[in-house]
Amino acid sequence: MFKTGSILGLVALALLTAPAEAATKAVKFGKLVDGSGRVQENVTVIVTDNKITGVSAGAPPAGAEVIDLSRYTGIPGLIDAHTHLTYGPDPLLRGGRSNAVNMVLGQDALMKTLESGVTTVRDMNASEYMDISMRDLINMGRWTGPRMYVVGCGLRATRSRYNPAGSALGCGEGNGADEFARAARQQIAAGADWIKIFGSTGSGEDVTGFQTVTYDEMKAAVDVTHAMGRRIAVHSYGPTGVHDAVRAGADSVEHGADLDDATIAEMARKKVFFVPTIDHNRYYFDNAERFRYRPGAKDNLTNYIERNLETTRKALKAGVQIVMGSDAIYDMFGQNTRELEWFVKAGMTPAQALASATTTAARMMNMEGQIGSVAPGYFADIVAVEGDPLKDVGVIINNVRWVMKDGAVVVDKTRK
Ligand SMILES: [Zn+2]
Repeated sequence: MFKTGSILGLVALALLTAPAEAATKAVKFGKLVDGSGRVQENVTVIVTDNKITGVSAGAPPAGAEVIDLSRYTGIPGLIDAHTHLTYGPDPLLRGGRSNAVNMVLGQDALMKTLESGVTTVRDMNASEYMDISMRDLINMGRWTGPRMYVVGCGLRATRSRYNPAGSALGCGEGNGADEFARAARQQIAAGADWIKIFGSTGSGEDVTGFQTVTYDEMKAAVDVTHAMGRRIAVHSYGPTGVHDAVRAGADSVEHGADLDDATIAEMARKKVFFVPTIDHNRYYFDNAERFRYRPGAKDNLTNYIERNLETTRKALKAGVQIVMGSDAIYDMFGQNTRELEWFVKAGMTPAQALASATTTAARMMNMEGQIGSVAPGYFADIVAVEGDPLKDVGVIINNVRWVMKDGAVVVDKTRK
């Protein structure tokens, strides 16, 4: 469109790419909880483009757009470490719609996620690299959504119903260490930020936790992933998959019930992050009839929730780093932070629960200093809540009024 070297072209390009909003914003808060749990009163957060450049009690800089949220408490943009944003809104219709349609319908899930105060997600499996497409559209500014870090196709042992004998392996599938190493390389080559392994059965109404991926297969994928500078998560409903994942060097384990004390101690020692995703089974329980689950499914879900919660309680006592992951799927988006209530039930203070979705999660994401706090140098991901989040975790879950992501206001319910 523009000829190389054309001055007019360069000017036009500069105009086209100029930000529509003021480059500097001054956001005033009555109270600010900065991520370390420290509370500051009557402060102004200075945002320049997409970064926080100052937090002080001083007057806003001249020319800055002032956003007065002094009625509210500011907290860091939250991190949901386990989502499924590309599956579409309804499990019964999922197969009847194309992947592309499900991805486009995911825009609603993206907005609901932002409305819950979540500005960063780790999305944990997709077909046809829709997660990578979604992430890229958001990063291009074409779609509005949280920062996405994605895994592409989760690695798993061959599922025969999708792979008749002799046919090629499906995306992410493998059998044996070599094929798991290859599958991990493939996902990274495709653009995955993380690698995920489905290490056991368990999903939806199925709460069995039979290990499906061997230690050697996990270890091969872990080694490739780490050699390429990335991190790896292992899904396991049952204890043996978690045990082998920890031994193999996984960075995070997802779900997990009935973990023995030795495995929990090893998780604490090796600083393996635990993402229990307790609340997603509550969502399945609530929707069992709508999703046409088999008789008995609700009892199984209740039973798993209790064991999952008990393991979380033990892990917390043992000093394991616990991270908020909703496992939000279908139309669960908007409930992303209900996990925090389970964490309080497991023994966390509201401040510890907030850390599980901010500072601890940022450490897991290897993004310390970038997300999870409201401080100079961090991305301008900020949430305003009504009430005191350090007294009542329900304030974080139910009272989000305003959300800034990457310096742009993406949710504003302050005038309602
Ligand atoms: Zn999941």
